Amino acid sequence: MRGVAHSEFPELLELEAIIREGGSRLDTQIACEVDVGNEKFPVHVVALGNPSPDVPVAGFFGGFHGLERIGTAVVLAYLRSLVGRLHWDSVLHRQLESVRLVFMPMVNPGGMWRGTRANPNGVDLMRNAPLDALAGAPFLVGGQRLSCRLPWYRGLPGTPMEQENEAVCRVVDQEFFGRKFGIALDCHSGFGTSDRIWFPYAHTVQPIDHLPELHALMEIHDQANPNHRYVFEPQSRQYLAHGDLWDYLYQRACAKPGRVFLPLTLEMGSWLWVKKNPRQVFSRQGIFNPLIGHRQQRVLRRHLSWLDFLSRAACGHRHWIPGDDVREQYRERALQHWYDKPPP
Ligand SMILES: [Zn+2]
Repeated sequence: MRGVAHSEFPELLELEAIIREGGSRLDTQIACEVDVGNEKFPVHVVALGNPSPDVPVAGFFGGFHGLERIGTAVVLAYLRSLVGRLHWDSVLHRQLESVRLVFMPMVNPGGMWRGTRANPNGVDLMRNAPLDALAGAPFLVGGQRLSCRLPWYRGLPGTPMEQENEAVCRVVDQEFFGRKFGIALDCHSGFGTSDRIWFPYAHTVQPIDHLPELHALMEIHDQANPNHRYVFEPQSRQYLAHGDLWDYLYQRACAKPGRVFLPLTLEMGSWLWVKKNPRQVFSRQGIFNPLIGHRQQRVLRRHLSWLDFLSRAACGHRHWIPGDDVREQYRERALQHWYDKPPP
């Protein structure tokens, strides 16, 4: 295994320790390398489970925004738990025969190293895809091309995406687009007081084609975890944004009929951590991450079951995705639920 391990970069050290522990049971690659001053950091990709294109895939992404370390921590905690169980968990081995699991826990190591939301070029990776909001994206926050010195910078118009995003696209191409069914989860923090599960679109209030599948996924999650506290909704219900990478990849996935690609974002509500520990507001890390040990543990514990649920949901997707006979009924229910459409 190549890569720089830096003693002051705990997330990278943890990821590389997990990769060592998993050994030959993991498929690993370095999707790209990011230069920051004299340092060079790898963007690792880890996969396990059945590599056959005939099985579904679940993918877990984190660290697009360098300040949101808790997103990376959640993905690493799940990967650590899986790798630890490979030694003895025969049920997990059965599961891995019929699903592929892909991890990209730290997409923007340069930003995390520098303690910035953006990558080392000053580009916000979640505003950088070649896709414009149709109308109503909020000034600055929705993405801007004024200056890389301001937050939410999209990059120069007409230029290729940043290398970290190109790397994500290659991984999604390799691991998702050759398969009929995939769920991706991208872990963020910083918005509001509730934990939210967002799905596309972010660039328009138009509903996506796969609303029936998303409503069905929400229903089986409610059944499996009746006391959960996630708010499940299209991102456009909160705000619109330019350049959303998951909108872009979702649209690319839809170019092939019959392929189902459901990209989700976990947006952990950090304002609650700030409310419970108001001194956090004076720390840049503190606005985006739980700073107290027991709160960090509780956050990791709570989200682990959501990540594991998604692996199982991908694995068993044939049993819950709505068939052609009921798909339009699911769409009606979803439109009523999320788009305030009156019942027929
Ligand atoms: Zn974020």
